[in-house]
Amino acid sequence: MSTPLALFLSHINTIKEEGYELVSEITKEYGQVKIQFDDGFRGLYDCIEELKDIPIEVFLVTDYIGKEGYLSISEIKELATVNVAFSSHSCSHKDLPTCSTTELIYELKESKRQLEELLGHEIKALCYPRGLFSHQVIEAAKAANYKKQYSSLPGSYHNQVFPQVYRRNLVQFLTKNELKHTLRGGQLIFFKRYFKRQYSQ
Ligand SMILES: [Zn+2]
Repeated sequence: MSTPLALFLSHINTIKEEGYELVSEITKEYGQVKIQFDDGFRGLYDCIEELKDIPIEVFLVTDYIGKEGYLSISEIKELATVNVAFSSHSCSHKDLPTCSTTELIYELKESKRQLEELLGHEIKALCYPRGLFSHQVIEAAKAANYKKQYSSLPGSYHNQVFPQVYRRNLVQFLTKNELKHTLRGGQLIFFKRYFKRQYSQ
């Protein structure tokens, strides 16, 4: 979201101080952190110099591309040359569980298609708008050929919520100390509460 640059860089330092490696793909059981940003705010482009050496993944809402406050096509293309990977965050940021079947398929397939056309490679990951998902959303995303689906439920990358549905820990509002606890799984205590709010059958 709109994380101030100073806080972001301080979080990066804390992650490194705690002995974690920043990676574009998690390959080990422990000791790696992958950084993701949702929505594609333009602030990312303004920080391009600072972000150059940090692998990050950005989930784009395709309808927002080029709108005020969001990344434009040329900015996305430039960021793609400096360690930034892009994936889908739907077309319109609608709550996916409340979409009709037709709308849901469109949100998933059309955002993927547009990003693939823009970037010239396969788009493999989806992140649910507002973290909301359902059994139908999971199945529709698999059918649309997404390999990874990111929820906003806390915990380890290796402990999937459902097959292909990954956990993420939201840290943009955390203090340094809270971030340290989060790196050790401290947000797990919220899992059940968030699961009830974010997942519908
Ligand atoms: Zn979002």
